[in-house]
Amino acid sequence: MARAVVIGAGPTGLTTAMLLASAGLQVVVLDRDDPAPAEASDAWENWERRSVAQFHQVHLLQPGGRALLEARLPAVIEAMVAAGLPRLNLAELRARHLELPGDADLTPFETWTTCRRPMLEFGFTSAARTTPGVEIRNNAAVTGLVTGTEVIAGVPHVTGVRTESGEVVTGDVVIDAGGRRTPVPALIEAVGGTRPEEHSVDLGFAYNSRYYRGDALPEYLEDVLCPLGSISVLTLPGDDGYWSVTIYHSSKDKNMRKVRDPRSSNGFCDRCRATPTGPTASQWAVWTQW
Ligand SMILES: Cc1cc2nc3c(=O)[nH]c(=O)nc-3n(C[C@H](O)[C@H](O)[C@H](O)COP(=O)(O)OP(=O)(O)OC[C@H]3O[C@@H](n4cnc5c(N)ncnc54)[C@H](O)[C@@H]3O)c2cc1C
Repeated sequence: MARAVVIGAGPTGLTTAMLLASAGLQVVVLDRDDPAPAEASDAWENWERRSVAQFHQVHLLQPGGRALLEARLPAVIEAMVAAGLPRLNLAELRARHLELPGDADLTPFETWTTCRRPMLEFGFTSAARTTPGVEIRNNAAVTGLVTGTEVIAGVPHVTGVRTESGEVVTGDVVIDAGGRRTPVPALIEAVGGTRPEEHSVDLGFAYNSRYYRGDALPEYLEDVLCPLGSISVLTLPGDDGYWSVTIYHSSKDKNMRKVRDPRSSNGFCDRCRATPTGPTASQWAVWTQW
């Protein structure tokens, strides 16, 4: 049976692993971070992902992504639903707000998923863990590529990877799903290959997300994404009774850094009756780039 090694157990690595396994491959996924907890209820408080800086930000799974998962990997959506991820119907919210007449069935527009990111990642991990043929190994940082006899003259032929502990994991194919800070381009160079061309742009946005939890969601007064001059405010329902407010602005706008103070950001929400969950480090995440 052909064997694949996937570097990275983020959404891309786990999706790749599950699809390859369904095609009959044996797949080993290596990730340098801690494993996901066994229970969804522990994913927010007890799962550290030092490699994913946006881990505590709000996450929005768009309809196209959700539809693809439903068609190709329904176990991921089932795991997300079991973890309490809601389906958001933006069309219905808007229609209700505008008090549109008519009785059109807007159920087909129940297509967005919004949640705290750990809950979304828990869905991927939970589905991958139960996929026959997929093995996930955590705390296994890949630090080198292993090469064998060249197949194309002058091109290193990768036959596996070496982890931080010195273990060699071999495969017929090695896939890089190490995210935007992947070490793989440097590792290719280290074994004598040509470093792939990379393009990256700093868009210069700072994200400040804050989560709230209460008896009810805030009243829907405007679009969930609301531009206000030089800043934008994104208010989203989330999982397990949480909802979030994300304020984003230019990272050069020094005045806006004040919203990192929970007292300032709460000012944005003073019309809502929900009680903030408190400014603990895990509930208040600040972002500087996207
Ligand atoms: C602020 C922000 C907000 C975002 N919001 C959204 C959103 O709302 N909706 C959306 O669809 N997308 C959003 N994105 C984009 C989304 O987060 C990324 O597209 C997604 O995380 C990419 O998944 P990935 O699996 O490719 O990479 P990652 O999620 O980065 O995963 C890479 C994995 O590789 C592992 N890894 C890295 N190096 C090694 C190594 N040497 N050895 C072993 N493992 C390694 C890491 O531990 C990590 O688990 C956002 C991004 C940012 C920055």
